[in-house]
Amino acid sequence: MNADPAAQRRLLDLQAVDTTLAQLAHRRRSLPELAEIARLEGRLAALSGDLVRLETEVSDLAREERRLELDVEQVRQRAARDQERLNAGRVGSPKELESLQHEVGSLARRQSDLEDQILELMERREEVQGRLDRLRGEVESIGADRDAAAARRDKVWGEIDGEVALNTRAREAIAPDLPTDLLTLYEKLREQSGGVGAALLRGKRCEGCHLELPPSEMARVRAAPAGQVVRCEQCRRILVRTAESGL
Ligand SMILES: [Zn+2]
Repeated sequence: MNADPAAQRRLLDLQAVDTTLAQLAHRRRSLPELAEIARLEGRLAALSGDLVRLETEVSDLAREERRLELDVEQVRQRAARDQERLNAGRVGSPKELESLQHEVGSLARRQSDLEDQILELMERREEVQGRLDRLRGEVESIGADRDAAAARRDKVWGEIDGEVALNTRAREAIAPDLPTDLLTLYEKLREQSGGVGAALLRGKRCEGCHLELPPSEMARVRAAPAGQVVRCEQCRRILVRTAESGL
């Protein structure tokens, strides 16, 4: 392949811009904030199960409390009716009187039992509610950390995107200077060789693979016309000759 020596040198400018773009893309996806956000979101996901469990427990306890309160109310009403009958003195037989007094006594014990159970449930509900409140506080604080990390990520991403836009414009200004076949070869080599398709020959060294060219290779490169595109025998990249090549 042949290409104007100026176009070959321009390829090094394109390579510099492409290397910068690759570094920016790498920086964009390897920000420490991304790992931090993922870690915090993992913790939030883990805690959301506990949150639901405690919320369910609190509402179950509250429902049980209301059920027992209704029971207390029924017992209280029945005891009041019995007491009214006793007070009115309308009870016929002594046997009936004894049975009614017995019932009033057992209703009072039943009410007291139910009230003890309600107190126990309230204590449990308050304890679980306390755990729920602490967990909600923790979730809120992790959420705030996650939001702060996301804000830092967005700020850096904004800066990176600005640099990407500058370099993309630089690339668009360089690419039209290059012949299509040279550009196609460069793109293909860049894809195959870790993002570097064209390298400067500095002294005897290829700056793509950083190896020195053997004397026979140097002789071949020296002999090649300036308009010929030469490749590194070792890494196959386009080897660009400039004043720094010392030929
Ligand atoms: Zn090389």
